[in-house]
Amino acid sequence: MTMIGDDLQQVRARIDKACADAGRDPSAVRLLAVSKTFGPEAVREAHAAGQAAFGENYVQEGLDKIAALADLRAGLEWHCIGPLQSNKTRPVAEQFDWVHSIDRLKIAERLSAQRPAHLPPLQVCLQVNVDGGANKSGVPPEEALALARAVAVLPQLTLRGLMAIPEPAADFAAQRELCLRAHALFESIRAEGIALDTLSLGMSADLEAAVSAGSTMVRIGTAIFGGRARKPA
Ligand SMILES: *Cc1c(COP(=O)(O)O)cnc(C)c1O
Repeated sequence: MTMIGDDLQQVRARIDKACADAGRDPSAVRLLAVSKTFGPEAVREAHAAGQAAFGENYVQEGLDKIAALADLRAGLEWHCIGPLQSNKTRPVAEQFDWVHSIDRLKIAERLSAQRPAHLPPLQVCLQVNVDGGANKSGVPPEEALALARAVAVLPQLTLRGLMAIPEPAADFAAQRELCLRAHALFESIRAEGIALDTLSLGMSADLEAAVSAGSTMVRIGTAIFGGRARKPA
């Protein structure tokens, strides 16, 4: 087993254990492997170990990796999880399968208009800033329902759910509390009749708290690929 394969197995075991502790079915939580800053060979290795879904933060880096791994394209699912500027929407609409970071209608409208007709709709989540953390993108919770209603009707998008990045908290209970805010918002929008099935919540450090709060997709980088030296420019 390669190191990445080994780490993947450990992360899957963490998800299974967190689900068991929460009385949840482990198949209800998907693993998104966040490959930002790591090269195509790391993705290839993870794919060989059975991982299909990969998350990228930086558009150009993601596009370069998608191109370098074109031979595997049919077996990969590419998720854009980083902040998205309106001048970068076209290649994202053309190349990615999912976008987790929709925080305003204009971005969603552009992605819908630019999604090629021969592709399935782009799968999207709204990023919500559940704890008001500074320096963080995301729609404020009180604006999420209106944005969800507007995005849900865009023709080339399928609204799947919410994404949140809760602030790091001091302990499990406090972390779970922040994660529960995202879950409560998710449920409140569902209660309005909008069919969401994805709560993208949980990273390497808060995976267990997120799963206990109802996450359906955890975004894990460090625990699979190792530490990142620094952000690329
Ligand atoms: C980098 C990143 C992750 C993964 O974080 P790790 O702590 O390395 O697991 C998840 N989600 C987003 C939005 C990220 O930017």
